[in-house]
Amino acid sequence: MTTAMTTNELTSLNPATGDPVGSVPVTPAAEVDEVVARARAAQTAWARTPLADRISILRKATDLMKARQETIAEQLTAEMGKPLKDSNGEIGYGISGYDAELDEIAEALAPETHEDERTNTTLFHDPLGVCAAITPWNFPFLMPLQVVIPALAAGNTVVMKPSDETPLTGQAFAEIFMEILPKDVLLVIHGGDDQGKALVKSDVNLIAFVGSREAGQHILSTAGADLKRVVLELGGKDPMIVLSDADVNAAADFAVNNSFRNCGQVCVSTERIYVEEGIADDFENAVIERTKALNVGNGSEDGINIGPMISSRQKEHVLDQLDKAKQQGATVACGDTPADGNFVMPTVLTGMSHDMDIMRDETFGPIACIMRVTNENEAVELANDTPYGLGAAVYGEAGRASGVARQLTAGMIGVNQGCGGASGTPWVGAQQSGYGYHSGHNGHRQFTQVRLVSQPK
Ligand code: NAD
Repeated sequence: MTTAMTTNELTSLNPATGDPVGSVPVTPAAEVDEVVARARAAQTAWARTPLADRISILRKATDLMKARQETIAEQLTAEMGKPLKDSNGEIGYGISGYDAELDEIAEALAPETHEDERTNTTLFHDPLGVCAAITPWNFPFLMPLQVVIPALAAGNTVVMKPSDETPLTGQAFAEIFMEILPKDVLLVIHGGDDQGKALVKSDVNLIAFVGSREAGQHILSTAGADLKRVVLELGGKDPMIVLSDADVNAAADFAVNNSFRNCGQVCVSTERIYVEEGIADDFENAVIERTKALNVGNGSEDGINIGPMISSRQKEHVLDQLDKAKQQGATVACGDTPADGNFVMPTVLTGMSHDMDIMRDETFGPIACIMRVTNENEAVELANDTPYGLGAAVYGEAGRASGVARQLTAGMIGVNQGCGGASGTPWVGAQQSGYGYHSGHNGHRQFTQVRLVSQPK
């Protein structure tokens, strides 16, 4: 961990230097119920506030986010490690889509009228009650933004628990919204998994969770006992398929960027690459050349492409996978050089086979694994041979690549681009990468209870 937690205090440590960055008070797990009770007491009035007024209140955050962007970005880099331009990019991306997102929520949650020859019905998207928002450390500003805002806009009150790896960014996010919202409509608790578990068990109606598949499974089974609603966005093992007619440079640019950005700590990182034999030599060489040009170092310094891993624990997990892959026959084409502290050098592995553990388990680190395949059918079969199903990418001639994309089992598939869809579309994991989803009209509605009022004509 790059935090130090005592009973009372959680101190964030810079993963590049080990220096303390700041601290927050820990919420004792036994006090979580009281916090949730405050959120419940505030919920009736917030739910009665008309949707348009809730949206207007939330809109006030735009200026506050802009005013604090620089400061929060610096703190984010200090406590999480990503290069400063990426921290600015994360917050800037959130701000740039924020107003349009609020408009979209207002549209999605407006009452609908339906009629047939006998009945007039109004369909309402009502709040569920109190929402727990539990988020990870890899995008510590964007992840809360994506689940807390639709929950609040829908008339729920929210108790959020940021990751214990990035409590300062979570606190800075919460402070912006606590400043503009009525008292107790948004509350924040700090701590580790125990606080998360206590929150899931508490008197909440919805758990919006972004994190690992294992924690998601635990949350789903706990929530099931009380039939609580869940929206789970979980881990992945995203494949990339490179067809023989792909633009080699475009494919290599994407492969390197999407395998190594945020030090590989992205839920939709490219973790497996299947390349058709005909283009494999050129593609591998282009990936290796680009990887060697990456600068690894303290994300606060200029010219750095890749910062440290979040923690020594995450580094050990990645190095263990790497060692095992080498024992199982992988070739290190570049990288895998010793690095101090929490740093891991971006590494390209070739000669992969599909029975290697690293081709199956989430890595969440800067390792690009390239496996040669004889044709697109083999690529599709291997890409789909996973319990995960978050993102995928196919590079090749557009028509052929689109045909391959439709055979993949992931929730979001990019053809000659990353997997994220156009604005207005959801962020959705299939299979064991998600259970429910957020964003887009239907995503916003998952934070609501549908209710009908009908009368005869
Ligand atoms: P994690 O599951 O360990 O922790 C996420 C959050 O859940 C933290 O706040 C943690 O304290 C809490 N938590 C852990 N176990 C819990 C439990 N049983 N009950 C309640 N709360 C619990 O994940 P992480 O290491 O913080 O983040 C990395 C994971 O998140 C990766 O698997 C990554 O793929 C995934 N992720 C997914 C998305 C997506 O949109 N699908 C986005 C970002 C990250």
